[in-house]
Amino acid sequence: MDKKCICQETQRHFLNQAFDSLTLKDSQQELLLSSFRETRITVPVTLYHNGENTLHTFQGYRVQHNHSRGPFKGGLRFHPDVNMGEIQALAQLMTWKTALVDIPFGGAKGGIAVDPRKLSESELEELSRRFCQKMAPIIGVHKDIPAPDIGTNPQVMAWMLDEYSKTHGYRTAIVTGKPIALGGSAGRLEATGYGVAHLAHKAATALSLVPEHSKVVIQGFGNVGSHTAIGLANKGYKIIGLSDVNGGVMNTAGISIDQALAQITEQGTLTGLAGTSPISNADLLELSCDILVPAALEATITCDNADAIQAQLIVEAANMPITHRADDQLKQRGVVVVPDLLANVGGVLASYYEWVQNLQQFPWERDTVLSRLENRLSSTYETVSILAQEKKIDLRAAAYELAIQRVEQAIRLRGF
Ligand code: GLU
Repeated sequence: MDKKCICQETQRHFLNQAFDSLTLKDSQQELLLSSFRETRITVPVTLYHNGENTLHTFQGYRVQHNHSRGPFKGGLRFHPDVNMGEIQALAQLMTWKTALVDIPFGGAKGGIAVDPRKLSESELEELSRRFCQKMAPIIGVHKDIPAPDIGTNPQVMAWMLDEYSKTHGYRTAIVTGKPIALGGSAGRLEATGYGVAHLAHKAATALSLVPEHSKVVIQGFGNVGSHTAIGLANKGYKIIGLSDVNGGVMNTAGISIDQALAQITEQGTLTGLAGTSPISNADLLELSCDILVPAALEATITCDNADAIQAQLIVEAANMPITHRADDQLKQRGVVVVPDLLANVGGVLASYYEWVQNLQQFPWERDTVLSRLENRLSSTYETVSILAQEKKIDLRAAAYELAIQRVEQAIRLRGF
């Protein structure tokens, strides 16, 4: 089954469980499942390949799932596997995330099926600007606010801010995750990973794991994975395995995150990191460790490898890294999972803080951003874990129930 179907099937399964538990009517379920708007966007760009200019037509998407609690909010993904099904599932997930952490946004997601690493800087700029031009009628500061996701970054947001502002006047709040020099928030770049580390620590503490004696494996060393590694290393956890798209590295005695970051900056890959042995991405997931953090793409933990996972705690830094069948297998074995909608919600929470600062034209200090972030993440974690204990359900089911109830209530109160 391709990733598109796995994503949708996984999401649907978790939702169905929550719908049953909340005894929602079919009509309510249908409303909660339906996207408000699904837009397909053709993005033509001239690329310079093999010595000549050729026109390439890329497929872009923006799915606006639900805006009953506030403007649509969610990232833009540039990745070859992007398709409508995946974006639909990820847009829904944003609705549950923003509701769970109780910020006044709905959920959306967008992206382009493209490998940005194969484009030159100017081609990427052209692609980003064209995409933004075509999205312009459906986005807005109080309508839909894009942000970075896999394959996009603050520079891409800067181009989009500029493109949108050409026709709408200067609008800092049109995107979040911008460079700080253009109104981006201090702390936003590291917020998702730091949030993952903060919640991993809370869940680990609940399992009586002590940082100094806990081994951590992180799959994926992009923005989220690398900041999770920094956050966990700062708390005293021993990181024994890391990976990027090229493969993994391991050292049971611990890997220096500073060295790993330096090597990424210099060579763009973890491969060959001094003091480590190579390991494949697949084997990395099955390493003997206490905490496993999948921080790459969807469906990395499936029925095929779930039983081989040795960690007692999995923290979903990525969106939907565990299929629902694998999730059942892990549950049966007593593995605790901090689900994506909770684990990586620090990203969109910091985006909310950025948007607020932009609207007020009043930037906050980094410490203010990060302490507000930690407080809100802690209280969200407590609420979810208390509900899970009361109802004897796992953290994912509790998080979904809380989020769905909030969205359902907003729909009902607004009267549609
Ligand atoms: N792309 C991130 C996510 O999946 C952040 C979205 C945002 O900040 O709007 O949560």
